[in-house]
Amino acid sequence: MEAAYLHREIINLQRERNELVRRELSDEEIHRFFEEKYRIFSREKGSFSCGCCNERVVMVLFQDKAIFRHYNSEACAGEANYTKYKSGRERSHEKALKQAMAKVMIEDALMEADQGYYTVQEGYFYKKELRFVPDFLVSFPNGEQWTIDYVVNLRGDGSFRKKIEQRLRSYKSNGFKSLFLIDLDWLALNKERNISFNHSEISLAVPINDSNMAWESFISAQPLNWDNYRRYFQTMAVQVESLLYLDLSRATIQLTRFLQFHNKWGELLFPPQDMKLTQLFLLNEPYLKATGRFSFQFYADEEERFQQNYIDDLRSRLDKHEEELQIKQQREKQSNSSRRSSLTRPVQAHMDKLQELLARCLASPKRPLYPSLEDNLKKAAQYIEQYEQGGEDSDQFYRSAYSILTNISHPLLGE
Ligand SMILES: [Zn+2]
Repeated sequence: MEAAYLHREIINLQRERNELVRRELSDEEIHRFFEEKYRIFSREKGSFSCGCCNERVVMVLFQDKAIFRHYNSEACAGEANYTKYKSGRERSHEKALKQAMAKVMIEDALMEADQGYYTVQEGYFYKKELRFVPDFLVSFPNGEQWTIDYVVNLRGDGSFRKKIEQRLRSYKSNGFKSLFLIDLDWLALNKERNISFNHSEISLAVPINDSNMAWESFISAQPLNWDNYRRYFQTMAVQVESLLYLDLSRATIQLTRFLQFHNKWGELLFPPQDMKLTQLFLLNEPYLKATGRFSFQFYADEEERFQQNYIDDLRSRLDKHEEELQIKQQREKQSNSSRRSSLTRPVQAHMDKLQELLARCLASPKRPLYPSLEDNLKKAAQYIEQYEQGGEDSDQFYRSAYSILTNISHPLLGE
């Protein structure tokens, strides 16, 4: 485990190690640094204790990592959780580095934002063995617990999706609410307004919260033309979701809130809002007062102003879409009717000629020489009759009669 208690203070070796690496200390220097700072507490005094079971743990230094291990017992849920936690995390150097950075950032922000409402612990310190172990576990006074995870990888394939779903189910079965901060690299906007996500990503959306609900009821209460809405979005649903993207380089969150109208697309309700990580982790006090329940601040500063902007814009887009639809339909109607008349007119004009051709073929003195053409003559006469009766296929009858007669006119009439 990376962290342990020294008296009442949490010591996180990996975190300290990252800082030393950043200051470009060599592995030997880091080794020496830890020996000098913690050896006496670890070996001689036995004063480090496990954040899960409270038993004695000791510092173990490797070339490229520093961890705590239980001194005697291995029968600790925290130890098992830690093993699982590590195996489920990123192995590639670059991503592991991002993961380590994000963890420090999130923990710092939680500590700074907390005004005595919650406690934060490493996910693997949970007293029970977990199937999936979160980065952090935040506990509120009413017993509510939130997991917090940073997600650097978001594959779109089925096995990854399955894993995410198992993780979510496992969290839920322990009564956790879950919050995911997705690496900013995954934020993908098309034409500024449309946000794209994969199946795994959308399942990492912020759990039901009052900000999303406020938007849903705001939009639903608008006197919009809902038939137009349905034609525009291909759905009647007003479903608002939020995804949070962590910008590691700036320690900020890009808060996105969008109307989800498709399983891979949403329409942003306002441009992604930059907010400090500490602002996100402030407690939503109005919500606590109104409901007695705990939640973070999943809203941007100017959302009320955004609401009117959004609805005005949406209304004009719906109108425009409807106009375009009508123009398109009209054009289609026109081109259909002109196509029909462009076919019909020459047919009408040529029909007399065709009938005359048939009459001449029937009267041809060469007819007895070509008995095999009798059937065709009959067919041609039949098609002409069917054409005269009109109907959907009449053009087709004209063409058939035409092709028969021009074929047989050659032997019969020499034309
Ligand atoms: Zn333990």
